[in-house]
Amino acid sequence: MSELHDECGVFGIYKNDEDMDIVEETYLALYTIQHRGQIGAGIAVNKNGSMIHYKDFGMIPEALPEKELIRLGNGKIALGHVKYSSGEAVEHENLAPLVMRYIKGQLAICMNGALTNYHVLRDELNQGAAIFQSNGDTEIIAYIIARERINSSTIEEAVEKAVKKLKGAYALAIMSPSKLIGVRDPMGIRPLCLGRIGKSFVLTSESCVFDSLGGVFIRDVEPGEMIVIDDEGIHSTKVIKGERTALCMFEYVYFSRPDSVIDGVSVAKARQRAGELLAQQHPVDADIVCGVPDCGIESAIGYSNVSGIRYATGLIKNKYIGRAFNDRKNNEEYLMRIKLNALKHSVEGKRVIVIDDSILKGKTSRHIVDLLRRAGAREVHMRIASPMFINPCYLTSDTTPKENLIASRMTSEEICKYIGADTLGFLSVDSLRKIAAGCKLDFCDACFTGNYPLDVSDTSRKDKYSEKIQY
Ligand code: SF4
Repeated sequence: MSELHDECGVFGIYKNDEDMDIVEETYLALYTIQHRGQIGAGIAVNKNGSMIHYKDFGMIPEALPEKELIRLGNGKIALGHVKYSSGEAVEHENLAPLVMRYIKGQLAICMNGALTNYHVLRDELNQGAAIFQSNGDTEIIAYIIARERINSSTIEEAVEKAVKKLKGAYALAIMSPSKLIGVRDPMGIRPLCLGRIGKSFVLTSESCVFDSLGGVFIRDVEPGEMIVIDDEGIHSTKVIKGERTALCMFEYVYFSRPDSVIDGVSVAKARQRAGELLAQQHPVDADIVCGVPDCGIESAIGYSNVSGIRYATGLIKNKYIGRAFNDRKNNEEYLMRIKLNALKHSVEGKRVIVIDDSILKGKTSRHIVDLLRRAGAREVHMRIASPMFINPCYLTSDTTPKENLIASRMTSEEICKYIGADTLGFLSVDSLRKIAAGCKLDFCDACFTGNYPLDVSDTSRKDKYSEKIQY
C-alpha cells in the first residue's frame, strides 16, 4: 500500500456509434481508473462543437452525481479525468478536464504527469501578462496550445508546436470542437493507450478500461506520438523524439491495475515475478505469506509459488473510503486504522511473511507490522516488491521531499527496527528491471537509483504553493 499518492487517469472518446451515450461510457471508464486518483473527477462533453463540463472533489459517485450527468447529456466527443494531488494546492481550479475559450472557440484538456520546466514556462507566460486560474501544469499546456494556434492552420499543428516546448512526463487528452487528440511524452514515462468500444475510438491511461467496457485494446501510444481522431478516423504522427525511452517502473510496482497491460507487459505478471525474485533473494522460514492489498497480493502469490510457503489472506482493506475520509487525510493514523485490518484467524500464532509494494515514509509499514502482531502473529517478516525508495519523483507529481523518505536516511536494518519487523528485505534494482522483461520501452527507476532520465533541477513543487500564496 504505497504512500506515493500521485497519479491521474485520463480518458477520451470519439463517438462513431449512433446509439452510444458517451457521458455514460466516460463515467464507467473513470470508475475503472479510479485507482489512479481519488481527490476529484470530471467530464467534459462536446455537442456540435460546444463544450459543457462538470468536475468536483471526491470519488466518482460523489464527484459526478447523476443530476450532473443528465445535464451533460450526450455528444460526439468526451474527456474524463480522475485526479490525485499533483503537488498543486487541491483547489477546484486544479481539477480537470480544463475547458477554456480562446480565439478558435473551445478547447478541453486533461493530463497525467508533471512538467519539469513548469517554472520556466509559467514565467514566460507571466511576462506576457497571462492570467491563470490554477497553479497546475494543465493550464500551462492549454495556454501554450492557444498561443500556438494563432499561427497554426490546424489544432494538431498547434499541439505539435506546444509539446515541443514541454519537458517532463505527460499523457495528454485534448478535445477540440471536432477532434480528439492524445499525446504521450517523448520518453513514454506516462502510459497512454488506444482502443475501441464498438466503432468509437478511445484514448486512456490503462488497458483495463477496454476489458471493463467490452472494448478492444488496439495498442499503446508510442513515446512522442500524437494521435488525432476525427471523422476520417485515426491519424498518427511522431511529433517529438526523446533521447531514450523511460517508462515509469512504478506503473508496474503500484500505479496501474493488475489487469492492465502496459507497453506489452501484464502488470499482474510483473508483480508476481517481483514476488518470485524476492523469494529467491530474501528467503525465510514462515507458516504463511500474505500480501498488503491491493498491490502486494500478486507479489505474495509469486513468493508463495517459489518458496512453497502457503499463501493466505492476512490483511483486509476497506475499499469504501470516500471524500469524508479523504478530507481528514492529515490524520494519517486515523486513516490507516480505517483502511486496513488484520485477519486474526489467519495470522494468530503464525510466522507471517507480509509483502508490500514499497516503503516511502515507513509509517504505513510500521502500522501493518503492529496490526499483524496485535492479531497474534508470532513473527512478522516484511518483504518489499521494489528497491529502497531513496529519491523524490519529479515525474509523477508526488514530490515527497527526500528528507521524508525513510530509505534516504536509514539503512535497511534501521528501517526494519523502526517498523518493528523481525526481518526486512527489498527487491534489488537488478531484479526490479527483470520483472517487466519483454517491455517495449526502457525504464525510469530514478526513485530507486537517482538516475533521472531528464533534467529535474527546476522542479520544486513547494514553489507552487508559495506562488499560490503570493497571488
Ligand atoms: S522516479 Fe520513480 S515514480 Fe517517478 S517516474 Fe521514475 S520510476 Fe516512476
